[in-house]
Amino acid sequence: MHVIGGPPSALPVPGRYVLPLIDRREESPTSMTFRFSTEGTGFRYLSNQAVRVHLPGVDDPWGAVRTFSLSSSPSEAGVLSVTCKISDTPFKQAFSRLERGETAEVFGPIGHFLFDPGRPAVFVAGGIGVTPFRGMLRYAADTQAPGPFTLLQSARVPEELIFRSELSGLARDRPGIDVHYTVTRSADSREPWSGRQGRIDRTWLEEFGHPERRPRWYVAGLPEMVYAVVRTLVEELGVAESDVHYEMFRGF
Ligand SMILES: Cc1cc2nc3c(=O)[nH]c(=O)nc-3n(C[C@H](O)[C@H](O)[C@H](O)COP(=O)(O)OP(=O)(O)OC[C@H]3O[C@@H](n4cnc5c(N)ncnc54)[C@H](O)[C@@H]3O)c2cc1C
Repeated sequence: MHVIGGPPSALPVPGRYVLPLIDRREESPTSMTFRFSTEGTGFRYLSNQAVRVHLPGVDDPWGAVRTFSLSSSPSEAGVLSVTCKISDTPFKQAFSRLERGETAEVFGPIGHFLFDPGRPAVFVAGGIGVTPFRGMLRYAADTQAPGPFTLLQSARVPEELIFRSELSGLARDRPGIDVHYTVTRSADSREPWSGRQGRIDRTWLEEFGHPERRPRWYVAGLPEMVYAVVRTLVEELGVAESDVHYEMFRGF
């Protein structure tokens, strides 16, 4: 299924859904994944849109609503998931304590950060920016999209490489998917790290760019990281702007 380039009317119409929590789990020392049931609601989304989550009754100075990319894939029937940093804001504190069966109001799907499984791709993730790429890679694996698909993921310390074991497993089991990690502050961690160190830079992007494949580039993370990567791709590596798609996680 090609989702890029379709008419805007192909996007599912967003709506408001009250969804029960199936479970929550720690994804890293500072982040959690929340899975909600969409069974029987008709909620539908494209890989990999976003939602707004509202926790009614939570008194938060910025309002009790946050936007999250979906970390699930449309190929995972009956569920959606979001994965977020747990900070000390009232919203995040209440979210981290939501119990199985309790509900959140979810508005969506929203956004146009859409995966084209028909083209080779390189996904570039800074920190929590990996969330939509977990959904895209799961979608690629479940639909046996040919790829190749490469994930370049960066985090401060190894234990913050969110979804690392799952995504390394996908890469091991599925031809056409590979994942590579870099850590910027390994000295701050007790976990030994023998992998790449340092930021996502021109050399690393160039190594996996394979211009002959003309991959579609997807970049997600905090605005500063996204700007830097997009600038490097377009201005230094000569990637066409139309081959670069990005999602900025504003609001941290
Ligand atoms: C498209 C998109 C996708 C996202 N996906 C994810 C995701 O998958 N996981 C994730 O963890 N986060 C994601 N975010 C960010 C998320 O919406 C929250 O902003 C973020 O998680 C921080 O929330 P917080 O309560 O921890 O912290 P805070 O940083 O305290 O933010 C609280 C709220 O206050 C607002 N705010 C803070 N400071 C100001 C200010 N000076 N003026 C006005 N408003 C302010 C923020 O916009 C935010 O809504 C995404 C954002 C966008 C736009």
